[in-house]
Amino acid sequence: MIRSDLYINGQWVSTTKRHPIHDPSDDSIITEISVAGDGEVDAAIDAAANAFPIFARMAPRARGEILRKAFEIMISEADELAQLVSRENGKVLADAKGEILYAAEFFRWFSEEAVRINGEFRLSPSGDKRILVTHQPIGVSLLITPWNFPAAMATRKIGPAIAAGCTVIVKPAMETPLTTLAIVDILERAGLPAGVVNVITPTPAGPAVSRILADPRVKNLSFTGSTQVGKLLLKQAADRVIRTSMELGGNAPFLVLDDANIDEAVAGAMLAKLRNGGAACTAANRFYVSQKVASEFTQKLTEAMAKIKMAPGLTEGAQLGASVSIKERDKISELVDSAVQQGGKVSLGGAKPSGAGAFYPATVMTVDADNDILKEEIFGPVAVVVSVDSDEEAIRLANDTAYGLISYVYSGALDRAIRVSEAMESGMVAINRGVISDPAAPFGGYKESGLGREGGFDGIHEFLEKKFIGVTI
Ligand code: NAP
Repeated sequence: MIRSDLYINGQWVSTTKRHPIHDPSDDSIITEISVAGDGEVDAAIDAAANAFPIFARMAPRARGEILRKAFEIMISEADELAQLVSRENGKVLADAKGEILYAAEFFRWFSEEAVRINGEFRLSPSGDKRILVTHQPIGVSLLITPWNFPAAMATRKIGPAIAAGCTVIVKPAMETPLTTLAIVDILERAGLPAGVVNVITPTPAGPAVSRILADPRVKNLSFTGSTQVGKLLLKQAADRVIRTSMELGGNAPFLVLDDANIDEAVAGAMLAKLRNGGAACTAANRFYVSQKVASEFTQKLTEAMAKIKMAPGLTEGAQLGASVSIKERDKISELVDSAVQQGGKVSLGGAKPSGAGAFYPATVMTVDADNDILKEEIFGPVAVVVSVDSDEEAIRLANDTAYGLISYVYSGALDRAIRVSEAMESGMVAINRGVISDPAAPFGGYKESGLGREGGFDGIHEFLEKKFIGVTI
């Protein structure tokens, strides 16, 4: 059964205003979901606020066990969930299944973190008191997620919130709310008490989110999405000095140094570029390749990309699905057209196919270092290659962006790769790998790619306040 209603205070709530959810592979309507009005938004805040004092006192082990149960249900229902992700998002089934397994791991990881929230007990340097440091759940949190990883972005926030003892209001992207509703259905079956997780789907998002952020009972905002919307929300959060975690846009550089194993670099590039059809904040966006190996790399990448089978996500053997919407697909197409007008040379793809669905083909192009496409997050299957003369030039160009989420470095020498990694202005660096995301590692960006870290040992602290208690004994 596909859930299409709001989830407030442990109840599925239907509203008369409906919003269609499209399958971007053929633009058919999967279902229509309930749209939340002010009444439902207020009810969700009330539910989360009322549930908080009770949930905050639930034993950490009990909270952890709900997450562990939800992890097990997600794994046992991974195939059905993957189909749903593929249908509403457009990504191919293999990517969708990979996302579900990754998403479930956040529930497992945070089920283990729930019982490992450390404190301190020590003597002050002057000896006048004991310093006690404890952590407390911050309170009602608003979680806003994007469409590109509808399962993983939800569990990466809901998992630590539950582990910490917070109650939440989740606002998924309007292109892909069905996956979030399915995950909440799982949490309900795993025994989550009413009011702890509430899901609302208002449209437009802005007024409802402002309403929530203005409510004094709301203490925390965790947002994943574009830098543009993130900045807007940071300004609003400032009015009430709300704690924020911001996972924003990226513009990842992928460096291939002259001593790299080119076949391995191409294999890594295929993963870093094509996972999720390129619609990932971690997607390699700019390939800076030593001029000594640039033509070999570009030729081999073009050959590999040419073998990719583009088809609707659920088609057997499909490797590249549809973008989430025609609007998103057209953005990719406009970026490529404009790069060509500025002198970019296309070696594969580069044109929208005719016919139904939000498809854009695997594309490889070479451009000069001043081409505007290098300034934008492409969010599609377009590899843009720039030839560089030295490691120093590669580093300078890689860092010449407002973003700083992730960088990729391919080199045959680990010491050289680590030197380059240390010079990268990004929160994450992948050495000789096309994917490094791991629920057990801190995920987040430098510069305009965000604030805070999700996953790892840091993730739970985005939902905890630190308290110092001083006492003379
Ligand atoms: P988006 O347009 O910023 O939307 C993200 C979320 O914000 C959606 O739920 C959206 O709701 C909501 N929203 C939009 N306008 C809003 C407003 N004025 N006030 C409050 N909420 C608002 O981003 P997207 O297009 O869905 O996702 C792609 C972006 O996410 C890319 O930039 C990507 O790099 C980034 N991303 C970052 C990470 C990371 O971890 N750093 C991970 C994944 C994605 P509606 O759908 O209702 O508009």
